Amino acid sequence: MTRHVIIGNGPAGVVAAETLRRADAAAEITLIGDEAEPPYSRMAIPYLLMGQIDEAGTYLRKNAEHFERLRIRMLRGRVEAIDSGARSLRLADGQLLPYDRLLIASGAQPVRPPVPGIDLPKVWSCWTLADARMIAAGIGRGVRVLQMGAGFIGCIIMESLAARGPQLTVVEMGDRMVPRMLDAVAGAMLRRWCEARGVRVLTGRRVVAIAAAGEALRVQLDDGETLEVDALISATGVRPNIAFLYGSGVAVDAGVLVDASMQTSVAGIYAAGDVAEAVEFGTGLRVVNAIQPDAVEQARVAALHMAGQPAVLPGTFVFNILDTLGLISASFGQWQGVAGGESVQLLDEAGFRYLRLAFDGDRLVGANCIGHTEHIGVLRGLIQGQVRLGEWKDRLLANPLQLSEAYLARGLAMAH
Ligand SMILES: Cc1cc2nc3c(=O)[nH]c(=O)nc-3n(C[C@H](O)[C@H](O)[C@H](O)COP(=O)(O)OP(=O)(O)OC[C@H]3O[C@@H](n4cnc5c(N)ncnc54)[C@H](O)[C@@H]3O)c2cc1C
Repeated sequence: MTRHVIIGNGPAGVVAAETLRRADAAAEITLIGDEAEPPYSRMAIPYLLMGQIDEAGTYLRKNAEHFERLRIRMLRGRVEAIDSGARSLRLADGQLLPYDRLLIASGAQPVRPPVPGIDLPKVWSCWTLADARMIAAGIGRGVRVLQMGAGFIGCIIMESLAARGPQLTVVEMGDRMVPRMLDAVAGAMLRRWCEARGVRVLTGRRVVAIAAAGEALRVQLDDGETLEVDALISATGVRPNIAFLYGSGVAVDAGVLVDASMQTSVAGIYAAGDVAEAVEFGTGLRVVNAIQPDAVEQARVAALHMAGQPAVLPGTFVFNILDTLGLISASFGQWQGVAGGESVQLLDEAGFRYLRLAFDGDRLVGANCIGHTEHIGVLRGLIQGQVRLGEWKDRLLANPLQLSEAYLARGLAMAH
């Protein structure tokens, strides 16, 4: 009987455990998590903060007996070290747990920037259910809030904070909002949209110090401006939870390095989700693509492999859709464009609509858009399918709105 152990009970860990059970009825499956809650989805936290669901609504599986029924052993504890030679891991309470196959699905944690005062009370992350409880208790109508960071997750958090009615200021050190997902035109449009909805947005600025000022916080920015706020939300990015792997022989870079079957440098040890650094589709570069659909797909592939079934991931496709206070933006693949490649853009400033397509030869390799939600599926199909556009490339350069026609003419032809 194979002993499977999974470190981390977020979406990646849960889907891996369920996939393993489907693939092997007899296997022993242990799912280890270090948070006090039943397995839940961080993605659901914004809906909790907006009052659309309660805490139970964030749980990944709603039936309390779900894991017991699948004979998945749930273990609360923190893994501190892995001995890959002895095939065992050590928990914080000293317990040793042997395994035959191991999955690292330990996710990521928020980066705490090295700013004086970052550890003061009322400086919060928005990453766990425990964080969400503090935010829900402390942030309501009229409360003065400064959010540090306006990246992908930062914008999602901002939307849920804004719904609570605070006086909100967002400080982003990049020259625009969501700089790792949107180009300058799109980033500026998003900023204009947020400002029109009452959020003060400061880009190209940094928080350099935070100090207690009675019940409030005094926040100093790099240009000398000082703001007094009641709470500060730190949303400056995340980093994979890999510290416990030192000495295990598992190769890491920013995250745990995996191959197409999600296996690490050590045979029998796999990784999936926010902790994994996989090969990016299209560029062949390694990326940590910390979004839930990727976490789940990687977990499924890893689990099938652990159960001895062939499965590979053709590469992580970097694709993000963001809803910021009702404005939908999206980025696909190599949206920045490639050297020597052509690009075209369509801009409607007043209507908050923007579309920019990036080509490499006669293939579409990336795109940015705001609005244009009707094209999202087709954009993904053309880019991920690496469709050769032939004469349709020039037609798209002349009129980027002919995306659906191009897909019907070329994409579907390639699919058959
Ligand atoms: C506010 C917010 C909104 C988001 N919105 C979106 C969205 O709209 N779309 C999207 O795709 N993604 C979104 N995400 C990101 C998404 O939540 C993550 O990609 C997803 O949670 C990754 O799943 P995971 O299982 O890899 O990691 P996690 O969900 O982080 O789960 C890992 C678990 O392992 C535990 N763990 C870590 N180390 C150890 C250890 N040593 N021992 C035991 N347990 C350990 C962790 O505490 C955690 O419980 C959002 C995230 C946040 C915070």
